[in-house]
Amino acid sequence: MTPDPKLLSFSEARQTVEQYAATLGPTQPEMLSLLDALGLVLAEDLRADRDFPPFPRSTRDGFAVRAADVAATPARLRCVGEIKAGATVEQSAIKIAAGEAAEIMTGAPVPAGADAVVMVEYAERDGDVVTVRRAVRAGENIVPAAAEARQDATMVLRGTRVNHAIVAVAAAVGRAEIAAYRRPRVAVLATGDELVDINLPPGPNEIRNSNSYSLAAQVYAAGGEAVILPVAPDSAHELALLLRKGFQSDLLLISGGVSMGKYDLVEQVLASFDARFLFTGVRIQPGKPVVFGEVALHGRTVPFFGLPGNPVSTMVTFQLFARPLLDGLAGSKPQPLPFAQASLKEEFTIKTGLTRFLPAQLGGTHERPEVELVRWQGSGDLMAVSGANCYIVVPPDRERFAAGEAVTVLLF
Ligand code: AMP
Ligand code: MG
Repeated sequence: MTPDPKLLSFSEARQTVEQYAATLGPTQPEMLSLLDALGLVLAEDLRADRDFPPFPRSTRDGFAVRAADVAATPARLRCVGEIKAGATVEQSAIKIAAGEAAEIMTGAPVPAGADAVVMVEYAERDGDVVTVRRAVRAGENIVPAAAEARQDATMVLRGTRVNHAIVAVAAAVGRAEIAAYRRPRVAVLATGDELVDINLPPGPNEIRNSNSYSLAAQVYAAGGEAVILPVAPDSAHELALLLRKGFQSDLLLISGGVSMGKYDLVEQVLASFDARFLFTGVRIQPGKPVVFGEVALHGRTVPFFGLPGNPVSTMVTFQLFARPLLDGLAGSKPQPLPFAQASLKEEFTIKTGLTRFLPAQLGGTHERPEVELVRWQGSGDLMAVSGANCYIVVPPDRERFAAGEAVTVLLF
């Protein structure tokens, strides 16, 4: 018995998964060396171990001065020394009195008595005389001590995904190891009698199982760990056995077998596990037959997706709907989809009725990002996506697009 159909719009379906993701608990935290935590979610706040910056920091190469002394230019000051980044004890003992200046480098501590830095471009030094040709405001070119963060202040919140910027903060506060939530385990189950594994030679009417690998790659990039199960044939009994295995993970992704064909058995076998279906289709293309739900088994509730088997459909529906669950399972808020706007290079027309995600190539310049469709043979066309870096997003009511028009793209 197949479940009652629940066909949602793209926004409704996305909302459904985001709300569901927010109810998921995080996995166990573990201590990892800093770079091993890249792409995972912080399980602790990162705190400032000292003031940031720890001293008033010059942001320029130039001369530390009293702003009042250079209000009228040119101003001639007496140069009392030089202070470089990582200043020595003697350099940091320098004090600036009225009429004095010190040569200073970017990243060096501004000496006591000075309240501004004149950029080297606006001053000349001749022996111990500095001539300043441009006035500065008090505070100019100085970041005061603790202006970025006070000692013990939280710099990054638990639940934040670790990217290069978070790595930089952790490094700056001296954390060679940080606590991150374990990668959620995501079972990946490809279905179809025509599929063979990639290390076997395919028969004339067989094709290699690429979806398990593209999904595993997407899972890994989303901070998860993929558990690739053996390919399930189009038989209810064997499918049920493999689904049962899949439900041991934190999330189960099934590819194929969710369309209307005679051998598309996934929904009916899921129903035999008393699955609760949150949707059984979304008005999108590619990916319309996508299924989302949960199964309660052995005292655990495990979410699952039935993703359509066409390789591009599988990729798109993972990104649109499964990705937020990886955020939720790892203790982070669902990250918004990376939409952007670009100017369309060539006109096109498309049938209305569904929200479409068309493989495209984004390029151009920062002043004028441009996007063009890649030619494709439909949602089975792996070649096309391999040459794309985004999808053009077409709302269900749009039919004609003119060259030069601004369109929305979804970045990979
Ligand atoms: P299905 O969703 O099962 O109807 O499959 C739709 C299309 O995707 C068919 O042409 C399948 O052969 C193909 N397909 C299904 N699963 C995979 C897979 N794991 N790898 C590559 N292609 C697949
Ligand atoms: Mg199939």
